Amino acid sequence: MIDTLYIESAVAEHPRITAIRRRFPAARVVNCERYGEVFNPKAQNFRLQKQKPALIMARKHQKFVLPAPAGYGIGGERNYYFSHMLNCLYDCRYCFLQGMYQSANYVLFVNYEDFQQQIRDICRETPEEAIYFFSGYDCDSLAFEPVTGFAEAFLPVFAELPNAWLELRTKSTQIRGLLNRPALPRCVVAFSLSPDSVANKVEAKAPSPVKRIEAAAKLQQQGWQIGLRFDPLIYQHDYQDQYRQLFSQVFSAIDADALHSVSLGVFRLPEHFFKKMHKLYPEERLFASPLQNASGMVSYKAELEQAMMNDCGEMLLQYIPRERFFPCHL
Ligand code: SF4
Repeated sequence: MIDTLYIESAVAEHPRITAIRRRFPAARVVNCERYGEVFNPKAQNFRLQKQKPALIMARKHQKFVLPAPAGYGIGGERNYYFSHMLNCLYDCRYCFLQGMYQSANYVLFVNYEDFQQQIRDICRETPEEAIYFFSGYDCDSLAFEPVTGFAEAFLPVFAELPNAWLELRTKSTQIRGLLNRPALPRCVVAFSLSPDSVANKVEAKAPSPVKRIEAAAKLQQQGWQIGLRFDPLIYQHDYQDQYRQLFSQVFSAIDADALHSVSLGVFRLPEHFFKKMHKLYPEERLFASPLQNASGMVSYKAELEQAMMNDCGEMLLQYIPRERFFPCHL
């Protein structure tokens, strides 16, 4: 599935890289000095590269953990994110990564221990305060787990930090590693879900919603805290029916009373990302929806956005208590 590996010379002998190379014995290996040489050049075509992304393995040197943007949270005051990986195995047409990066190649930062140290340091600064860490910001947290061993490496670290919460955000069904270990009480496995009709059109390569719901239900039965992320809400003329059906499907498999959190947010993108994505996929109907540009953000028209948030919010509140509901108003 990956036929080219770029490896930064400084980490060429890193044990994580050695293990990954073994998984792709036929891959062409190209050495480089800094991953940015391969990843950042402007004259790359994200759409074309997405058909066969290479895997770039590198060392991250600084800013391992960053404050999460305002509005990003599930009830905590202090929110951080970190990205051991850039880009994703899936190909959601609304994904902001296409607008943000020049390249669709995957970047994996193999020096996990540096991320972990910064997480520990942040937690120790305020041991009495709950601190939330989000891992699925620049990639899907679990989709590449068999290759990266990300959760396997980070969960034991979080298990030892009494004030640290971890959100693994995913559309993946790569949950075997989680099922094989005891549930971690402060880890939320948060599944992003859309109605089938939306997923079929704009969530290419991701497991179907029904498979994600099954994975969430399995984890929940084993004691894992589950989050549900209906974000982005995508407009279709019959969106109310679509989402009503989705919620009914979800809550027939998942115990609403045991859920950690449910969040909701509408489709929106910074204007410069939107323009780039539109140029990449001019034929994409998602970008021809009733959108508006306000203060540098492209989103649905305010009334439509409000209606979608209200309608879906009301439907969700028939299943879940208000204190677990986190509508996202960015
Ligand atoms: S799963 Fe998330 S990170 Fe991956 S392509 Fe879709 S929106 Fe982007």
